[in-house]
Amino acid sequence: MYNIAIIGGGIGGIMAAYKAKQNSPDAKIIIIEKGTELEKRHCPANKNNKCVHCKICSITSGYAGAGAFSDGKFNIGTAYGGSLGEELGEDMAMDYINGVDNILRNFSDDYPELYLSNEDLKLKCLQNNLRLLDMNVRHLGTDKNFATMKNLICWLKDAGVELLTLSDCNDITKTKNGYALNITEKGQEKTIETEKLIIATGRSGADFVKTICEKFGIQINANSVDIGVRVEMKDSIWREFSSKIYEPKILYRTKTFEDRTRMFCFNQGGLVSAENNHGVITANGHSYAEAHKKTENCNFAILSSIHFAGDFNKPTEYASNIAKNMNFAAEGNIMVQRFGDLIRGRRTNEHRLLANTVTPTLKAFAGDLSIVMPYRALTNIIETIYALDKVAPGCANDDTLLYGCENKYYSIRPVHNGHFEIANGMYLIGDGSGITRGLSQSGAMGLYVADHIYGKINNN
Ligand SMILES: Cc1cc2nc3c(=O)[nH]c(=O)nc-3n(C[C@H](O)[C@H](O)[C@H](O)COP(=O)(O)OP(=O)(O)OC[C@H]3O[C@@H](n4cnc5c(N)ncnc54)[C@H](O)[C@@H]3O)c2cc1C
Repeated sequence: MYNIAIIGGGIGGIMAAYKAKQNSPDAKIIIIEKGTELEKRHCPANKNNKCVHCKICSITSGYAGAGAFSDGKFNIGTAYGGSLGEELGEDMAMDYINGVDNILRNFSDDYPELYLSNEDLKLKCLQNNLRLLDMNVRHLGTDKNFATMKNLICWLKDAGVELLTLSDCNDITKTKNGYALNITEKGQEKTIETEKLIIATGRSGADFVKTICEKFGIQINANSVDIGVRVEMKDSIWREFSSKIYEPKILYRTKTFEDRTRMFCFNQGGLVSAENNHGVITANGHSYAEAHKKTENCNFAILSSIHFAGDFNKPTEYASNIAKNMNFAAEGNIMVQRFGDLIRGRRTNEHRLLANTVTPTLKAFAGDLSIVMPYRALTNIIETIYALDKVAPGCANDDTLLYGCENKYYSIRPVHNGHFEIANGMYLIGDGSGITRGLSQSGAMGLYVADHIYGKINNN
């Protein structure tokens, strides 16, 4: 019998285990992770630049979770990356976000300085109908982030936390003293029992969380979904922003539909990457901190949010079907199109791509996004690019590249008791809860829940 079992070895699960061990060094804690050890995570696309649809995606699964090969941008604030501020109140949310920052500092060999928000850039955006979000950012970069997480996981191992790998938790049953978990570990079925359970399965565990909620009769609130593209251009176009605040995150309200779009996940000198979500390939991006690994490009996402009203409650399936169709039209790959071709209503072909001044950092299928992307989303994206061009001239160049699709799913948001407990002794944290959308807030939720379990939070 374990005191705490944690399903998912991403930052949420890791921070929860760390804090639980700090709170109770003798506690018997286990992490169940369907992917591999951090060091064994390898994406074949790194070699041949093409996703080969691994059964377990090394980009999203394994120790350190979806953030393992990320850009390691930690948002030290509550303005984006989730709604922890609304859930816990700003002060408490900030305490836990700072808690994540301090832990990472302790496990990092060379911790970078913060990028602070910038008033002049905020004004420049405001004067052009754009809202630059206020946030301090700590950029570890892919390599430092990886090394820091490795140190943290080593500490957990030394502290006696059991770390299962290639172990897929596929069912949870209520027992007299807690929960029994059914696990397929390297092909073998086994059951473990625990008093407290923390589910930290991230976005890749969305179906699992849904099944568990249905089984335990936990109410699920619908969430929105974001459909968009990854945009790539010359790094110099955004240098004024990236040199001052590192990561511009900008909101826009489109003219035609008055929809909200956002520019986010900016990677200076970065690479566009592919992500496999249950066999559906979508675009993403990252960058390395080391100067010699930088490219001459930058990339970021432009996303158009869709909220469904009425009875339709399947935003994830909706967006996933669009990405599936995009893969279909791109012969199983991500599609790339030049902005100039998109607005002229013609497809991009290999010939035009070869002549492009922006060299693509991901091998994608040259095509026409408009044959798949919904009209409303595409109109919103085009308008946003023109709006961004006013503060970063060159953004709307013909040679700007758009990769489709990049979707963000947040559909499942189970009801909790105010402390992220969705059933007695069962907690749901991180991106899988629909509450967080980034590393800092997912980690902060892990710390909070470990404190709640050990009665360390003043609940009044
Ligand atoms: C390419 C990329 C770049 C990103 N860059 C950034 C960034 O720079 N900054 C930022 O703040 N955020 C970034 N993000 C988002 C960030 O990675 C996530 O917000 C964060 O990882 C969420 O942490 P989590 O612990 O909640 O979930 P995850 O990191 O997704 O971890 C969940 C873990 O649970 C495991 N799991 C799922 N289901 C089961 C099951 N049934 N049984 C056992 N194990 C299971 C998964 O294998 C996974 O390892 C990026 C994401 C990607 C994909």
